Amino acid sequence: MATDPASKKDGGPGYVGIRFCQECNNMLYPKEDKNNKVLLYACRNCDYKQLADSNCIYVNKIMHEVDELTHINPDVVSDPTLPRTKEHQCPKCNNREAVFFQGQTRRAEEEMRLYYVCTNCKHRWTE
Ligand SMILES: [Zn+2]
Ligand SMILES: [Zn+2]
Repeated sequence: MATDPASKKDGGPGYVGIRFCQECNNMLYPKEDKNNKVLLYACRNCDYKQLADSNCIYVNKIMHEVDELTHINPDVVSDPTLPRTKEHQCPKCNNREAVFFQGQTRRAEEEMRLYYVCTNCKHRWTE
């Protein structure tokens, strides 16, 4: 219980935060220098640049949202083991029969998401 929360504001070693231009105090944006293959922080207001001391800033930007719908094979409509529903109209062709199944995603909050594939036009959608 000896830790003082105020001492964290100093920004200890390894702190990665927002940087500000030393010339005009505007926010610096990470920028790739393609010629030298290094990461820079650049000001959008003036010409100020500084070399980034680590590439950590990119870690969170590289995460791509995988669109699961595009990974569904439309041929699942001919799979006789999959359940069918007549209560979900296809938003594309208005056909009233669709194959449905649960998503394979590992994200816990989406475990119960259902995917539908139209048996007529093979359009894929989710709720
Ligand atoms: Zn500046
Ligand atoms: Zn359809």
